[in-house]
Amino acid sequence: MTADLTDKIFSDEDAAWAHFEAIRWPDGRVCPHCGVIGQSEASKGKTTRRGLYNCRACDKPFTATMGTVYERSHIPMHKWLLASHLMAASKKGISAHQLFRMLGFGSYRTAWFMAHRIREAMRPASDSEPMGGGGGPVEVDETFIGRDILNPPEPKAPVRIGNMNKVLSLVDRTSGEARSFVIKDLKMTTIAPIIEKNIAREAWLMTDEAARYTGIGWNFVAHGVVNHSKGEYVMRVDNRVHTNTVEGFYSIFKRGMRGVYQHCAGRHLHRYVAEFDFRYSNRTAVGIDDKTRAAKAVAGAVGKRLTYRQPHGHRSFGLHAAQA
Ligand SMILES: [Zn+2]
Repeated sequence: MTADLTDKIFSDEDAAWAHFEAIRWPDGRVCPHCGVIGQSEASKGKTTRRGLYNCRACDKPFTATMGTVYERSHIPMHKWLLASHLMAASKKGISAHQLFRMLGFGSYRTAWFMAHRIREAMRPASDSEPMGGGGGPVEVDETFIGRDILNPPEPKAPVRIGNMNKVLSLVDRTSGEARSFVIKDLKMTTIAPIIEKNIAREAWLMTDEAARYTGIGWNFVAHGVVNHSKGEYVMRVDNRVHTNTVEGFYSIFKRGMRGVYQHCAGRHLHRYVAEFDFRYSNRTAVGIDDKTRAAKAVAGAVGKRLTYRQPHGHRSFGLHAAQA
């Protein structure tokens, strides 16, 4: 299904709230204070906030945005849904400037904050299953993108790899999922813990010939190596051995970063990376349409806040520790 921007959820605030509540509470309204399900009623009164419910079990008020990345913003729900949809549906991403113009905000800052919160919603939960669990191939590669402002070159010195931002990506060829990490260097001691946490031992690791992968490869059932320095891109004796999938992911990532996000500071890079991972892992080629992908981006808004502070301020508790 393609994007239908005439859908009422993108213009009508009541329809937007109903849509979000259905995604947030598929099995009935859950009180975020006490966890009781289906024991709440809409708060009535002229001055009542939209979407406000009162829990009969603990007698506390709540709304569907509590404990989500949308919480405590003054942005209307239909604009959250529209921005999420646009970001989820644009293959190379959409800049905060473009959101600012399209959504009619008062300031660019608002659009910028909103875009980063939506990227946070696109981040996978930290308890995701390791990739390649069924014994399939998982490709690993690294790339450089933009300058690392924390490691600028010496005055008049040329830009070196150490001055660039570095990204490590894992792509599960079977599921089509991509996971990327901003890394401080390319040492095996930096890369190995990420690979060991995110890839199952029964997987087939696929990398290029870089020495940093040699020691890591022994942890897996198989390690296929293509020798890029010798011009080999698919192993001649076994055409399953290649890293063309992760390189395809990087080409989308780099075109998007160049075209839309050329001013990304290194400290925000992990959020952009999460956005490209999200769209790639939920792309049309793996059977996910625009509407479903947007719904996943909205569902991901839930549980990304580490703590929810009560109105009185002294007590806070974790909803989900989904934020890595
Ligand atoms: Zn309650």
